[in-house]
Amino acid sequence: LVSRKKHPENTVVNVKDTLIGDGVQKLIAGPCSVESEEQVLTVAKALKERGISLLRGGAFKPRTSPYDFQGLGLEGLKILKKAGDQYDMAVISEIVSPNDIETALDYVDVIQIGARNMHNFELLKEVGMTDKPVLLKRGLSATISEFIHAAEYVLSRGNTNLMLCERGIRTYETATRNTLDISAIPILKQETHLPVLADVTHSTGRRDLLLPAAKAALAIGADAVMAEVHPDPAVALSDSAQQMDIAEFNEFVTTLRESNLLKDVA
Ligand code: PEP
Ligand code: MN
Repeated sequence: LVSRKKHPENTVVNVKDTLIGDGVQKLIAGPCSVESEEQVLTVAKALKERGISLLRGGAFKPRTSPYDFQGLGLEGLKILKKAGDQYDMAVISEIVSPNDIETALDYVDVIQIGARNMHNFELLKEVGMTDKPVLLKRGLSATISEFIHAAEYVLSRGNTNLMLCERGIRTYETATRNTLDISAIPILKQETHLPVLADVTHSTGRRDLLLPAAKAALAIGADAVMAEVHPDPAVALSDSAQQMDIAEFNEFVTTLRESNLLKDVA
């Protein structure tokens, strides 16, 4: 069902009236974790001022250590919804349990399935039975074929509102947190009809590489780029090393638009 051979036209996913996969590349930004209402509203306002209407934020955080901040859960989804309503933005948040999908439908515009859950087939089936847009991330060590099969789980249950996101894979290289598999982007565009996104934050894990990685992803044909933004990354409860502050984010957006790589606004 995801194969372009059977379905040659591009799938365009409508996320609260912002189209993803329509040929106009988009930015998705927001904090790694939802930490407080003030934090999320500050970021939402900054994005809105730049004409960006796709806000991400993690409420259920799949952390490597059980002793690290696990996210605000439902409270976090409520904060995101408030920000989305206040600034007329679409909100994107990861759900980690099939039991939380139904609740999430009332709060988020896109359900994110994280890298660690790409192989959680029960979760994939559950989102597949909704009609909510889904952002599926590539697993930490998943081949492109495995990623495409995971996507097939969602479509096979009826939900065609699916976006794929390359977020770096595990390799022997330690200079970056993961290795951004840049060629996966055109391969996924050729093999499937789904929108393909690039997460430059989790793939590089380095603030200094966000801009060059975003340029490369846009140049190679990504339908959208995702990056993390926090009002004060130094005190962030997760991913402190790679989130941009608001001034850095403004610079990031300006540079991409001026370079003509990102043509998301007229
Ligand atoms: C995230 O986007 O918040 C996240 C945890 O990413 P990933 O699942 O790609 O690690
Ligand atoms: Mn993060």
